[in-house]
Amino acid sequence: MFDLVHVWVIRQLTLGEFSSRQAVLWKAMAMAAKIAVFAYGLNVIAHFILVGLGLLPYPLGPALVVATMLTPPVSFIVAVIAYSVVGLAIYDLGVSRQRFETLSRTDMLSGLMNRRAFLETFEAARGSVALILLDIDRFKSVNDTLGHKAGDDVIVRTATCLTHVLGSDEAIARIGGEEFAVLLTGQGTERAMEIAEAIRASVEEMRLEISGRPVSISVSAGVSEGVAELGFSELFSGADRALYLAKASGRNRIVHAKELPVMPLGASVPDDGQVGIDRGRLSA
Ligand code: GH3
Ligand code: MG
Ligand code: MG
Repeated sequence: MFDLVHVWVIRQLTLGEFSSRQAVLWKAMAMAAKIAVFAYGLNVIAHFILVGLGLLPYPLGPALVVATMLTPPVSFIVAVIAYSVVGLAIYDLGVSRQRFETLSRTDMLSGLMNRRAFLETFEAARGSVALILLDIDRFKSVNDTLGHKAGDDVIVRTATCLTHVLGSDEAIARIGGEEFAVLLTGQGTERAMEIAEAIRASVEEMRLEISGRPVSISVSAGVSEGVAELGFSELFSGADRALYLAKASGRNRIVHAKELPVMPLGASVPDDGQVGIDRGRLSA
C-alpha cells in the first residue's frame, strides 16, 4: 500500500494526472464521488451488521434514511477538500520541479541548451549524426574594447542568429564562453556544411550596434560526423580539431574534419600564433 502511494505521488510530480489546476479539481470530484459511494455502502452494511447483532439503538428504516441523506454529501465534500488540497500541493511541487529541470538544462545568458542538456541530447541520439562547433572570432577584443556587457550582448545576438537559422527545435547549445554546438541527426556531409555555412554567413551579415557603435562579428566552425553510438568524445575531437584549423587558417570559415591533414601521433595543427581556443576545455 505504502509503495503504491509512493509510486502514485512520484508519477503526479511529473505532472501525470495533475497536469493543471483544473485537472486536479476534476480528478478530486471524480475521486470524491467514488469515495462517497464507497462510504455510503459501508454505512449501510454497518447498519445491517448492527441490526444483526441487535445493537442498533433506533429503527433501521429512519436510520437508513438519515444515512442516505447525510453520508454521500458529507463524505463527498470532505473528500473533494482533502483530495484538492493534496492534489494542488502536488501540482505546485510538480510545476516547480519542471521549472527547476528546465533551468538546470538552460544556459542563462543565451537561453540555449547548456552543455549538460546537449550531452544528454547526444546520448539519446541514434544513427548518423553531425556536430558543428562554433566559436566567435576574436571575441576577447569585443570585451576589451566595448566591455563585458557588450560581449554578453554579442553572445546573445549570436545565439538568436543560430536559432533563427536552425529553428528553435534543433539541438543548439552554448557549451562555453563564446562557443556553441549544434547537433544534427540524419544529415550528410553536404547538408551539415550547408547549415554551418548558413550560420556563418548569417552571423557575418548581422548588423550589430552596441553603444551607438557598429560592431561586426564572425564565427569559425568545425564540423564532424559519425555514428552516435560511438560516443561524443570521438565526434567532438574531430570537430574541435577542425575548428582549430578554421581559426588557424584565417577565421570566419568552416572546416570539415575530413579536411584535416592526417598527422603523425604527437604532431599539432598549424597555428597562426593567435588562436585563442583552449583545446583541453571540453571533452565528454
Ligand atoms: P579566437 O578568434 O581565437 O576564438 O579568439 P577569442 O578572442 O574569441 O578567444 P579567447 O578564448 O582568447 O577569448 C574568449 C574570451 O571570452 C575570454 C573570456 O574572457 C570571454 N568570455 C568567456 N565567457 C564570457 C561571457 O559569458 N561573457 C563575456 N562577455 N565574455 C566571456
Ligand atoms: Mg573565440
Ligand atoms: Mg573560445
